[in-house]
Amino acid sequence: MTQSVLSAVPVSGRGPFVTIDGWALKSNWRHLANLAPGARTGAAVKADGYGLGAALVAKALFAAGCREFFVAWASEGVEVRQALANTNCRIFVLQGLDAEAAELCRAHRLIPVLSTLDDVRLFAEAASGALPAPAALQFETGMNRLGLDEADARKALGLARQGGFDVTLVMSHLACADDPDSPENDRQRQSFERLAALFPHVARSLANSGGVFLGAPFHFDLTRPGIALYGGETGLDPLGAIRPVVTLHARILQVHTAPRGEAAGYGASARLERATRIATVGIGYADGYPRAASGVTPLRASEPAPEMAIGGHRAPVLGRISMDMTLLDVTDLPEDAVRPGEVAEVFGPTVPLDEVARRCGTISYELLTSLGPRVQRFAV
Ligand SMILES: *Cc1c(COP(=O)(O)O)cnc(C)c1O
Repeated sequence: MTQSVLSAVPVSGRGPFVTIDGWALKSNWRHLANLAPGARTGAAVKADGYGLGAALVAKALFAAGCREFFVAWASEGVEVRQALANTNCRIFVLQGLDAEAAELCRAHRLIPVLSTLDDVRLFAEAASGALPAPAALQFETGMNRLGLDEADARKALGLARQGGFDVTLVMSHLACADDPDSPENDRQRQSFERLAALFPHVARSLANSGGVFLGAPFHFDLTRPGIALYGGETGLDPLGAIRPVVTLHARILQVHTAPRGEAAGYGASARLERATRIATVGIGYADGYPRAASGVTPLRASEPAPEMAIGGHRAPVLGRISMDMTLLDVTDLPEDAVRPGEVAEVFGPTVPLDEVARRCGTISYELLTSLGPRVQRFAV
């Protein structure tokens, strides 16, 4: 992140903020589309666009060429529909149906993904009378999370044939797409093909980000990447072309040197084995920087502490993470690089999102979706 980009960001106050690189987001979508040339490429924008802002993300992806969007809840779909009003995009609602969601789908032209026979019946009843409304069906293929088994898929076929609704997509979800060597992937693909054959002329969708990288047999007609769009799971990309999208920044509030033998942070858990220069940074677990990243925890006993970058130099987290503050050991950094008011990169181009996630004992998805409401978001 160059200083010129940062100085263009109208940050108010001393709180943390994220910059979202719209160009990199679009570039990642195009890269994923190029990897699956035989399929359309959609986007998962659930959970407020993976924490970045659903409207911001949906508009950027639409500009890149994306026309299929996946959200978890109907209310999220309404937000995307409003952001992309007067467009021909299709918005799929992954988490089934109740009466209220059915009404939102009708009013805002959202396509529900029906995953239980109850969903299917409710939608068939709500849809009857009007023109057949579009719906997607989700099949159970091995993850045992949401989806119709074969018997229910056949019943759904019968209900659709009675004219209640129009099956526009059949889909399933991979449990192990982030592990290309897992035999689950082929097992699920075969199971999906068998179920999808019940609906011979309907478009098929199986691949999330990991599924796109698994190659053509997993692409079918429509892919649904999420995390790779936002710069996560970069290690899966065989071409290494996924770019960082999100940079999380926090301000240095204070810098001082503490003598050897003292301790730092709650619980006095970090004993100082040398005179230590400490930078206090204004971000904590209330902002989504996980407390599990503190010191040594069972979750990440085998990982070193996460680091932040100041002026391109890395510094490790020291002691426990507080609600609003984190301490860094900056003893080894050039003195003039570390001053109050300077900005530290929590993750971004210098400290990769995936690395921070691993050292915090979690995954990039959780770091992004945990960004707190006080973290200001800026598109750059
Ligand atoms: C979240 C989700 C995706 C996107 O997954 P990523 O791993 O983020 O690419 C795709 N399909 C379904 C059903 C999902 O729930």
